[in-house]
Amino acid sequence: MSGLSRIRWAIAPKTAPRPLINCNRCGTVKAYCCSGKFRVNANGKRIDVWLIYRCIDCDNSWNFGILERCNRLDIEPARLAALESNDPALARRHAFDVVALRSRVGRVEEFPDVAVHKQRLGDTRESATGLELQLRLEMLTSLRLDRLLAGELGISRSRLQAMEERRLLVVDPEGTKALRKPAREGTTIRIDLINELDRQAIISAAGG
Ligand SMILES: [Zn+2]
Repeated sequence: MSGLSRIRWAIAPKTAPRPLINCNRCGTVKAYCCSGKFRVNANGKRIDVWLIYRCIDCDNSWNFGILERCNRLDIEPARLAALESNDPALARRHAFDVVALRSRVGRVEEFPDVAVHKQRLGDTRESATGLELQLRLEMLTSLRLDRLLAGELGISRSRLQAMEERRLLVVDPEGTKALRKPAREGTTIRIDLINELDRQAIISAAGG
């Protein structure tokens, strides 16, 4: 495949997962939204930290345990300061920790929407006949690779599938049904577009 246009896609999820909680005020199961605020409770040397969630309908709160009965001396001062000041990056990291959330709440609603920042690697090649997409994920996403590619490139999922079957589209590292699985950090996708009539449109949609 000569003339590859190489592009890095930095992918950040947009909407944090929402735990589904039996809201005692609403009297039914409701989605709870992350408030972005921590609650830090110090009792002598013992520290508890929660991330506060609120019912989308009645504002009732639910506390997502981040640190429980931790010794103050075991917490890095910078981390404690970040927790106490509701550092947005730290709150975001915890809010997107779907594995930890699931361990506290049985059901969690996940959202596949992402923001994709596209950066060309190397010069633009007018003659490019293929794409190499390098995925960088800020954190785990539930967005399937074929949905990501279809949305960003303007190609149908069935066409992507057909291209993969003909080995015109290769996912590296290779896995079974990689296209149908969530996009993963460090994945590279190579697409041979030499015979595609809308090649230019696809390459420019990719950011090349
Ligand atoms: Zn409620």
